[in-house]
Amino acid sequence: MNNPLLATFATPFDTAPFDQITPKHFLPAIKSAIAEAKEDISKIKAEALPTFENTIEALDGSGKRLGIIAGIFFNLNSAETNEEIQSLAREISPLLTEHGNDILLDQALFQRVAQVFEQKDGLKLSPEQVTLLDKTYKSFVRNGAKLKGEKADQLRKIDQELAQNSLKFGENVLAETNKYVHIVDLESDLEGLPEGIKEAAAQIAEEKGEAGKWAFTLDYPSYIPAMTYAKNRALRETLFMANGTKCAKGDELDNQEIIKKILKLRHDRAVLLGYKSHADFVLEERMAKSPSQVISFLDSLLEKAKPKGKAEIKELEAFAKELDGLEELKKWDFAYYSELLKKEKYSLDDELLRPYFQLEKVIEGVFQTAEKLFGITFTPRTDIPVYHKDVTAYEVTDKEGKYLSVFYADFFPRPGKRNGAWMTSYKGQSIKEGQDIRPHVSIVCNFTKPTKSKPSLLTFNEVTTLFHEFGHALHGMMAKGSYESLSGTSVFWDFVELPSQIFENWCYEKECLDQFAKHYETGEKIPEDLIEKIKKASNFQQGYQTLRQISFGLLDMAYHSKDPSEITSIRDFEEQVMKPTDLLPKVPGTLMSTSFSHIFQGGYSSGYYSYKWAEVLDADAFELFQEKGVFDKATADSFVKNILSAGGSEHPSVLYKRFRGREPKQDALLKRAGLISE
Ligand SMILES: [Zn+2]
Repeated sequence: MNNPLLATFATPFDTAPFDQITPKHFLPAIKSAIAEAKEDISKIKAEALPTFENTIEALDGSGKRLGIIAGIFFNLNSAETNEEIQSLAREISPLLTEHGNDILLDQALFQRVAQVFEQKDGLKLSPEQVTLLDKTYKSFVRNGAKLKGEKADQLRKIDQELAQNSLKFGENVLAETNKYVHIVDLESDLEGLPEGIKEAAAQIAEEKGEAGKWAFTLDYPSYIPAMTYAKNRALRETLFMANGTKCAKGDELDNQEIIKKILKLRHDRAVLLGYKSHADFVLEERMAKSPSQVISFLDSLLEKAKPKGKAEIKELEAFAKELDGLEELKKWDFAYYSELLKKEKYSLDDELLRPYFQLEKVIEGVFQTAEKLFGITFTPRTDIPVYHKDVTAYEVTDKEGKYLSVFYADFFPRPGKRNGAWMTSYKGQSIKEGQDIRPHVSIVCNFTKPTKSKPSLLTFNEVTTLFHEFGHALHGMMAKGSYESLSGTSVFWDFVELPSQIFENWCYEKECLDQFAKHYETGEKIPEDLIEKIKKASNFQQGYQTLRQISFGLLDMAYHSKDPSEITSIRDFEEQVMKPTDLLPKVPGTLMSTSFSHIFQGGYSSGYYSYKWAEVLDADAFELFQEKGVFDKATADSFVKNILSAGGSEHPSVLYKRFRGREPKQDALLKRAGLISE
């Protein structure tokens, strides 16, 4: 079979030949590319003496075709999937996992890597090369390459059990979510809910065989609006209790024992590999470095945010008392009264802002901002194949007019695209034998679609999302590393959100908004007082929200930074850890750990703090732009040189200091969030 994935791509810039690929091409192409990657590894092992070039560099350069084909496949599975692709994914994923393990468990290969590593100091390597050597060596060691015999078997067994328990945790949360439905008989019980939400509730009821009634579930699109808008306090309490006791009812879906198992397995694994705790293991490869640094980071924020959080609760209590004579504000009242208070204070809603954010203009604004800051330009190229007619491909050029990258933009929802917004890439960047191989980068979003009578008008939240993802894309497009595995967004986890989050800051700057935030009918610029309102509203209840994030981060660290055998009751443990951050009366029976999927199912264990960490970095870094001018050339150049182009070539602390001239400080975030006065 003539397989376009295995041929040389006859497209502009070697872009993926989407117009020729069909799903049936993937499996044979992946299998063939795996075989090719295995040959790359055999060649490395066949060299007489291991050197940095023939082992470490060669490993970074191995399996390139596999990377590109797998990239195309999984990107499509997220952005334009169908049953055929999904079923292929179930076949392809295990093949790739197995291939990855074959490499990391290859003792002969590891011995060669270790030999180079031991000579490290005598090799006269550049900082980037040292980083690559460390990262390569550690990827083996952290996967157990140094363990022998029984201990190696033990590690495999732990990994298997961990996978099973995390899966079970997630299945239980899903089962509890799917099982629950609350039926409302009378429309009068739905006061306060917007029409659209009522319609959705009526539809759910119909699907559940209760036509003519209304139904709510624990799915967020049903649960969150109900908690935010329902005047009916009993309804809010019912739903809150159902959500707050998820997987904590002592039945077959209870997750408390599973949590204990996961914690023990993670701890045993870390100890087996020579670490004090799971958090020590995870944080070795983070900017934050150690559990104690994370904990003191969170504690220091906690101290600053708490007075503001307390004042916000007082304000809300007074508001609810005056409005409805509420004697005690409960957890199920929080979202409802907050929404009303926010409306009263800022009278700002999405519909008021949308007319100023026409998608085409916002995209132009994003491009203009990038051009002003970094001198890069975007030209649409209809000759670059795309995977769906809604996708636009651009050629990106640098300030000298030289080709920099391909950029794909895919903005509207459709069946076959998953929810949310993300940046991804189809081809990484690297320098091989002096030749700079440029990347192909993409952002995928789910923005409000245009209708027959109206263009696509974005909410402000969608505008910041676009800037956010574009910031990630810049990190990819401006990459200038030698090695693909250290290039672009291949950085430590708690550093990867710096380029994306910092870019959001420009959405609040008049100088930037004036470029593109113009009324789609009248062309009038967005009024200054609206910009001010957006800023103020974005700080609404920041004290409380900050405390919430801190509480999750602290709980995560408490679970993972010590020997978990001391934890006998999940209920008591959670209560004790969350107490300093809980500003509303504790509701007996509820538990958050049992549905804390981020850390027990997903990959965020010992990483929840990263959200706040990245915010501190982006606010602190943006402060320099504010001092020097938000479009200051020298600052922008330094940001490109030290952050955007540098990727993971050195430790993020080193890169950050080079840009900022010092270690990051929390003050800029605290000021921006209104937690301390200027
Ligand atoms: Zn992001």
